[in-house]
Amino acid sequence: MTQPLFDRVALIGIGLVGSSLARVLRQGGLAGEIVACARRQATLDTVTRLALADRVTADPAEAAAGADLVVLSTPLSAYAEIGRRIAPSLKPGAVVSDVGSVKAAAIRDLAPLLPPGVHLVPAHPVAGTEHSGPESGFAEMFADRWCILTPLPNGDAASLDRVTRMWQSAGMKVVTMDAEHHDMVLAITSHLPHLIAYTIVGTATDLEETLKSEVIKFSAGGFRDFTRIAASDPVMWRDISLANREAVLEMLQRFTEDLTALQRAIRWGEGDKLQDLFTRTRTIRRSIIEAKQA
Ligand code: NAP
Repeated sequence: MTQPLFDRVALIGIGLVGSSLARVLRQGGLAGEIVACARRQATLDTVTRLALADRVTADPAEAAAGADLVVLSTPLSAYAEIGRRIAPSLKPGAVVSDVGSVKAAAIRDLAPLLPPGVHLVPAHPVAGTEHSGPESGFAEMFADRWCILTPLPNGDAASLDRVTRMWQSAGMKVVTMDAEHHDMVLAITSHLPHLIAYTIVGTATDLEETLKSEVIKFSAGGFRDFTRIAASDPVMWRDISLANREAVLEMLQRFTEDLTALQRAIRWGEGDKLQDLFTRTRTIRRSIIEAKQA
């Protein structure tokens, strides 16, 4: 048996991502002890039934007490409150990390609350599904995907190294970048596509009844792929949209301009422009397949 990477890990929030991490920690023997924390008793019961943790509690402070690593896997809007509650019970030298999809807001909400000697290592494993809750998690979710760490400029190198090794053990390729840069990149690769999907599915939902049933019947024409994305957790996406406000608005602005240009090309019968765009976008798809991220 190899030495665990962390003696005690507290997982605060144990839904899709938190429970997938719990499975990785368990399978790899990476944690001496796992303490899981969620709000609802039903979630804690599920965690116990699935044997994802050694202990469960609804109290974040109790979960964090004595932990070597605390990972927040809750919606972003809960970070400040959780930070306030865990701060007094964090032990010196503890590492606090998270899996949130927006990094500048995560740092803004957590960093000022942590006592000196506690090390913040913000992380975003770019992997997931549209499902929620501890039953939907699986250890393989992270395999061959990227994990982006956004360490603070004066952050602790040893803590960064341990968090890096944890995600590498989950099969992830780990990269570090500036939190603001992360938020801009994710605004276009993840946040904008989700907002577009929510809009298209919303538009279809507002159609009159006869048309709506046809939309469902013939959804394989493209609509179906948007519905999968638009089935993602509403609270999580509310939080992401608001937490990454500036970058999301910037990408929405660019998208709206491009959509207007497309509208114009169709109106004026500019087939060359359309074909040109549809050809350029095909190459992106090929690059994603070649990069094994399809
Ligand atoms: P999830 O399956 O809905 O699980 C959320 C967990 O957080 C649950 O255990 C829930 O407890 C707890 N929680 C919710 N609201 C809370 C609050 N106000 N205070 C304390 N605990 C609270 O969510 P998820 O998909 O794992 O996402 C968690 C985080 O991962 C989000 O910040 C998201 O940005 C990030 N992320 C998600 C994905 C993805 O594809 N889903 C991918 C990468 C990163 P109860 O069950 O008791 O309510």
